[in-house]
Amino acid sequence: MGFLDTIAVPDARRYWIRRARVPQCLLAAPVKSAVPDRDDAVLLDLLIEGETIARLAPTGAASPADEPAIDLAGRHAWPALIDMHAHIDKGHVIPRVENPDGSFAGARQATTDDRTRHWAADDVRHRMRFALRCAYAHGVACIRTHIDSHEGSAETSWAVFREMREEWAGRVALQAVALVPMDAFRGDYGRRLADLVAASGGVLGGVTRASGGVHRGMLPDTDALLDTILGLAAERGLDVDLHVDESGDPEAAALPRVAQAVLRTRFRGRVVCGHCCSLSLQPEEQQRSTLALCAEAGVAVVTLPTVNMYLQDRTTGRTPRWRGITLIKEMQAAGIPVAVGGDNCRDPFYAYGDHDMVDTLRQAIKIAHLDHPLADVPAMAGPVPSSIIGAGPLGRIAIGGPARLILFAARSLNELVCRPQADRIVIDRGRRVRDGVPDYTELDDVN
Ligand SMILES: [Zn+2]
Repeated sequence: MGFLDTIAVPDARRYWIRRARVPQCLLAAPVKSAVPDRDDAVLLDLLIEGETIARLAPTGAASPADEPAIDLAGRHAWPALIDMHAHIDKGHVIPRVENPDGSFAGARQATTDDRTRHWAADDVRHRMRFALRCAYAHGVACIRTHIDSHEGSAETSWAVFREMREEWAGRVALQAVALVPMDAFRGDYGRRLADLVAASGGVLGGVTRASGGVHRGMLPDTDALLDTILGLAAERGLDVDLHVDESGDPEAAALPRVAQAVLRTRFRGRVVCGHCCSLSLQPEEQQRSTLALCAEAGVAVVTLPTVNMYLQDRTTGRTPRWRGITLIKEMQAAGIPVAVGGDNCRDPFYAYGDHDMVDTLRQAIKIAHLDHPLADVPAMAGPVPSSIIGAGPLGRIAIGGPARLILFAARSLNELVCRPQADRIVIDRGRRVRDGVPDYTELDDVN
């Protein structure tokens, strides 16, 4: 029997979680006189009252012996996490469509075929719901998903998104971003799409690439298109979230253009750039000036390491030499907020994944050398994305915040990274989540 098998989360409205080890980077505010361990985690007693965390105190300081309690004996307790970059409209199509060679071009073509053939509302709903059930079971409290928003299919997918947002409200907070190749904003469609996004409470977005085929370098009218996107967003009070330079081509350098456009247009919303892969293949001087511009413009970045590792530097019959990731450490050093996200799941852009941010974080640590020390890394899947996307109290532990927690058997961050944490206990608003991940047979009708 494992340690967590001995833990029975009380059904009581009021109970204590004693001796929980919480990384300080996951706390909304420091807890006075708590003593940090070498991972900068502190031993706390948490009082759960109804759906919220009513008290946080250093272990032994406050919790009376006669109240219902569980004793974590120094095991880790985290807030439920945030996946700020997903594609739950595309996911779980592996049973019916594969990327023929694992390349980016293969992914685009396979997805276009799948979308035009299969993406009726029922199909999108079924796969989105499966994704949300996976995420919820793993302890994800909030997902920002991109939605393929091509003319002709956008309305259907956004309607399903709105329905899912309602259905999952309280369990998984759902945000959506319109995703189209940037040249879709050349004509009148951009305005109609921005209206749809505004009416749906979404975020405006796009890819800094052309539609159709593989485009090297950048679109000649990149600056004008960025101005258009930011202008449409500003008129409607929308934030912007872009797929930027997801490429191993050093000539793909839209990131500084985005920052310049934000400064030029004095855009007041939040701008997020996802991927930014090619930045790490550019000359150092260029990297430095790009990072300075991003910091000045207040651009935030989300890195998607598992998918970058899968898609970048892939050539059939040749072993990859490059990890595909952006300059995470350099960005952090420059004051740019960087979150980690899950991105695609079981689709032509990424054949694997399970909407598990603990797994994404564990892999990101190894892919990007986010260790030695590990202390601040958990924030990249909690407080950092929460602030970037405005997820309110989600993604951190706070007095008065929701009692949404993940309890682990691990006593240190090393133990947490070494094992998949399949035995974790997820608590949603004070109650243990009993639903496990859905069985794959439930996708047998996705064909
Ligand atoms: Zn993406």
